[in-house]
Amino acid sequence: MFQRFFGGIHPAGRIGGTEGKELARDAAIEAMPAPSVVAIPLSQHIGAPCAPCVKPGERVLRGQRIATTEAFLHADIHASVAGKVKKIENGAVVIESDGTDEWVEGLPLDRDWHAMEKDDLLAAIKDAGIVGMGGATFPAFVKLQPKKSVDVLILNGAECEPYLTADDRLMREEPERVVEGARILARVLSVRRVVLAVEENKPEAVEALTKAADALVAADTSLDKSLPKPEVVTLPTRYPQGAEKMLIYAVTGREVPLGGLPMDAGAVVQNVGTAAAIFDACAHGIPLIERITTVSGDAIQTPKNLRVRIGTSYQDAIDYCGGFSETPDKILAGGPMMGRAQESLDVPITKGSSGILALTRKITEHGPELNCIRCGRCVQACPMGLIPSMLSILGQRKDVTKARDDYGVMNCIECGCCTYVCPAKRNIVQYIRVTKGAVKALAAKEKAKAQAAAQKKEAAKA
Ligand code: SF4
Ligand code: SF4
Repeated sequence: MFQRFFGGIHPAGRIGGTEGKELARDAAIEAMPAPSVVAIPLSQHIGAPCAPCVKPGERVLRGQRIATTEAFLHADIHASVAGKVKKIENGAVVIESDGTDEWVEGLPLDRDWHAMEKDDLLAAIKDAGIVGMGGATFPAFVKLQPKKSVDVLILNGAECEPYLTADDRLMREEPERVVEGARILARVLSVRRVVLAVEENKPEAVEALTKAADALVAADTSLDKSLPKPEVVTLPTRYPQGAEKMLIYAVTGREVPLGGLPMDAGAVVQNVGTAAAIFDACAHGIPLIERITTVSGDAIQTPKNLRVRIGTSYQDAIDYCGGFSETPDKILAGGPMMGRAQESLDVPITKGSSGILALTRKITEHGPELNCIRCGRCVQACPMGLIPSMLSILGQRKDVTKARDDYGVMNCIECGCCTYVCPAKRNIVQYIRVTKGAVKALAAKEKAKAQAAAQKKEAAKA
């Protein structure tokens, strides 16, 4: 049984009358050959950027660690191809593939994760540089050591963003990797319940995961047989069902307090792609050097779900899909609701790249922005219980403190529901993003001011 969250939308109509998923949902995962050049960013995660541990001119092998840092919150970076480091610039290690795809010594391993201790599993996840692959990019080994007790693990297979189908294809085609990843996570976290949460618009994924969970648990002869069996829970198709807070409420009925984290509700949420990568890391020692990414949109010749090397350029991925069928008006990193517009195609696919969308003007044209008519639709749609109309007005007025203190702008999850339903075509979420940036800048300024005052006081005492 699930709980229905407040607000949310059915994202169709304004983006072409459909969810856009039909473009790529039937396209089986296709392994894109390694491109001739990859540019692997040094910061693909929340936390400290890594520093390169290779030099230009050096030969590197597939799976070799190429960047790391002493900072706790980080995720190591590995080479996704074998070849020569051409240069290190603009925060990325550029590698020219030599076409051999030679693995670094010892990889891939074939080991039984059931025989590994919890600490060894965590170390394998850390070594592999795994981050939340739904787009959050939080380092997995940190999330898997919550500071509060948790009793439920939820694997996010909602994939509620329109157009994106990479997780759907992963669950349909490689459910064993997802289920084994879930069981590894269950052991690491010692949870009592493991839930694979999927929206009801993915019946094939639900069936594949259920069969895989039954088969893998039945075949397990190790002590891990006593781990909680992953339950597949079908959720209503409602955006933003895949947001952590909505997912936890839907599955457990528990609310994450405002400003809180999933662990405050006794839960850890990981994306299904992350679970599959965790299985690869623990069973085969393989670092996160490739992922499944949807390349879609009405301007793409042949929309696909690609298994693609990290560092592949958007241009190469789009070319592999036959290029553009029409001139795109917008290129997005991610889905149409939360994705970010890109200025150029010379952008690398990273660990958090769930999709690349190229949309024509037919889809992106919304008409001019008008004044708010106080219809209240945005308030009804906001899953966080905010007043988006007021936040957009305060954003326009640049009234940062009022937006923060009286209207809780920092609780906005930037889901875009308010913008989607607004009949006045107000780009509310954009105003909110700018306001949130200003709140952070203000906090940094206040902190610096307080530190300077404290130093002055100390100096006066001395
Ligand atoms: S205010 Fe934020 S959380 Fe609420 S609907 Fe708009 S984008 Fe989503
Ligand atoms: S939906 Fe748009 S017009 Fe209606 S209240 Fe919200 S901001 Fe104003």
